[in-house]
Amino acid sequence: MAANKKLLVLPGDGIGPEVMREVLRVVDWMAKHRAVGFDLQEGLVGGAAFDAHGTPLTDETMADAAAADAVLFGAVGGPQYDSLPFEQKPERGLLQLRKEMDLFANLRPAIVFDAMADSSSLKRDLVAGLDILILRELTGGIYFAQPRGIDEMADGSRKGYDTNLYTTPEIERVGRVAFDLARKRQGRLTSVEKANVMMSGVLWRETMTALHAAEGDGVEMSHMYADNCAMQLVRNPKQFDVIVTDNLFGDILSDCAAMLTGSLGMLPSASLGAIDETTGKRHALYEPVHGSAPDIAGQGLANPLAELLSYTMLLRYSFDMNEDADLIEQAVQNVLNSGIRTADIMQDGMARVSSTVMMDSVLKELNKLAGV
Ligand code: NAD
Repeated sequence: MAANKKLLVLPGDGIGPEVMREVLRVVDWMAKHRAVGFDLQEGLVGGAAFDAHGTPLTDETMADAAAADAVLFGAVGGPQYDSLPFEQKPERGLLQLRKEMDLFANLRPAIVFDAMADSSSLKRDLVAGLDILILRELTGGIYFAQPRGIDEMADGSRKGYDTNLYTTPEIERVGRVAFDLARKRQGRLTSVEKANVMMSGVLWRETMTALHAAEGDGVEMSHMYADNCAMQLVRNPKQFDVIVTDNLFGDILSDCAAMLTGSLGMLPSASLGAIDETTGKRHALYEPVHGSAPDIAGQGLANPLAELLSYTMLLRYSFDMNEDADLIEQAVQNVLNSGIRTADIMQDGMARVSSTVMMDSVLKELNKLAGV
């Protein structure tokens, strides 16, 4: 039972509110039929918040996010905001949420439902049934560490540089999340770096090895260089269960793994913070990988499944409601097996439907599966 758990819903811009509206129908269904009830609160973020308040994230919404048990996020951005100053751009709202909630662990699953295996750029037998999880460190490493800059040199030419810096506590905290996730899955973890050529990679490998010896019970861990991992992801992706890696390699490898699934409209993600020792709670934000898709906004075309699968991740990772998450994912699988498709995943011989009809179909399947 999840009564009185606080869920902050931030639909955002473009197709964000469209896919969120559809997902809230499932949230409602779960409250009625599975006793998965939340105290729902809705807020503005991104361009919508800028239009109403002149800022992409108000202090009140930030405080609501920090107080919530989980945040379900849509998407932000749009061409009408492109000329705004940097600090007022819609994307700043999302970045501020990630930063202030200290969401250091980014989970990107790459799951290929059987019915979708032909949408991948790889052969069907390589990807059918694929289920891997990439865990990317999100708040450290080369995108944040100092020194970084572009300097002029004595001869008038310039040098640009970044620093890939990790401390042992940063590696350990993401390593612990990786062990937890692996234990809940097949128990296999691949830790990825480039210890052959980078000192930060040497420290990453040494730290993960020591942490595994101390806290890695039940997890079989191996190490892999990032370049090899990129090759293995397209050669034989099913060899992986959970991959943990730094911010830079995670950025690249998770996009590569995502494309194995062939469909942006189906990709969820989660970003988690540390567990607070006094409350036992952890900040968490769940969002589809896609953006606000201004090219199709307002036309009822958006695929709501990435947002729905973000909600199933929320049930799993914030509330341990695995059976409820399984039920929704089974309903999605049945709908896809029956040949129902939104435009972005349309294939020959299938039925093309709107966002709302896609969710009608999921709800019908949920009714069937639950015997309602
Ligand atoms: P996008 O993900 O919005 O769209 C890329 C393409 O995929 C478009 O053709 C779009 O129609 C399609 N698409 C995306 N989601 C879909 C869905 N659910 N169903 C069907 N088709 C879908 O990326 P973009 O076009 O590069 O960016 C558009 C705006 O979104 C920009 O302002 C960008 O800054 C913003 N953005 C926001 C986020 C976020 O909020 N996390 C992420 C990426 C981009």
